[in-house]
Amino acid sequence: MSLDRRNFLKLTGGAAVLGAAGTAEARPNKEPSPDAVGMLYDATICIGCKACMAGCKEANDMPIDSNLAEPGQPPIWDTPIDISDKTLNIIKVYKQGSAEVKDREFDGFSFIKRHCMHCVDAVCISVCPVNAMRKNPVTGVVTYHPEVCIGCRYCAFACPYNVPAYEFEKPLGQIRKCQFCDHRLKQGQLPGCVEHCPTGASLFGTRKQILEEARRRLSMRPGEEYEYPMQTVDSPHKHVATVKQYQPYIYGEKEGGGTQVMMLAAVPYDKLGLPNLPEKSAASRSETVQHTVYKGFLAPSLLLLFLLYITNKTVRREQHEEERKQLEEE
Ligand code: SF4
Ligand code: SF4
Ligand code: SF4
Repeated sequence: MSLDRRNFLKLTGGAAVLGAAGTAEARPNKEPSPDAVGMLYDATICIGCKACMAGCKEANDMPIDSNLAEPGQPPIWDTPIDISDKTLNIIKVYKQGSAEVKDREFDGFSFIKRHCMHCVDAVCISVCPVNAMRKNPVTGVVTYHPEVCIGCRYCAFACPYNVPAYEFEKPLGQIRKCQFCDHRLKQGQLPGCVEHCPTGASLFGTRKQILEEARRRLSMRPGEEYEYPMQTVDSPHKHVATVKQYQPYIYGEKEGGGTQVMMLAAVPYDKLGLPNLPEKSAASRSETVQHTVYKGFLAPSLLLLFLLYITNKTVRREQHEEERKQLEEE
């Protein structure tokens, strides 16, 4: 009988939670702040020099990430193969067939820069149980706060770009990720990767300016010459290059609710390792489920019901035991 009741509670409680979550409508995506900062990475003018990676290491005081070190020997060269707890930004290469021509999908190659995209409606923030991931309400930069982090790594599991990396080698590890060089922005400096880029492939501006610049490039004809601004969108310093045949949309304008780091490339974005994401942000969906479960204290109410049932059962068992002892004594 008691087993049946327990199963009944589990089943009805679970069904109520799932039912409530299933029938709820996701909240709307969050909008970018009017002064949100932005970055454009244009793969067609990237020369793969990796100065942005070196600039990132220097700006953030990050260690060497060597995959060539002999066991027991100190690392000498920085040879990261992906984003990690030691590497916040990486230039990767797409290659196909003979890989003869840059920015061509077949028998060609392309560079691609990967780091935190600073999502407009970031799922790493929405899943963090202790508010260790936060979005600056003005700049929109997504920062990590180790003083409150409990190391659950929900952010790393939830991020569609596999960005947050945990320091497993340290006894008290932290999450590491690109913070848009927030410490430098606060001092009026450019992000390290942008400052060191020799071609303007990594470009800084407001998100609005970055979108306008990216749309301008998409409206140009392949083969035309263009004066690509360097470092900042409104910079007088230009890098002259020939416009390539871009993919027909800006990656990050809408993906997953939009990002503040956006991309242009000639090779399809999925071939460059960027995920195909719906326009609805994952944060809006995950928060809707969480909020629905807790709406009207549904989950706490079910827990209270369960605890009352256990308490009632224990009291009744003790009463029954006392009655039995009294009967035996009589
Ligand atoms: S890319 Fe990942 S870590 Fe960066 S803001 Fe988006 S969800 Fe968070
Ligand atoms: S913004 Fe700063 S932390 Fe982020 S990739 Fe660029 S240099 Fe690295
Ligand atoms: S510094 Fe600029 S050109 Fe060099 S790899 Fe980085 S983005 Fe490309």
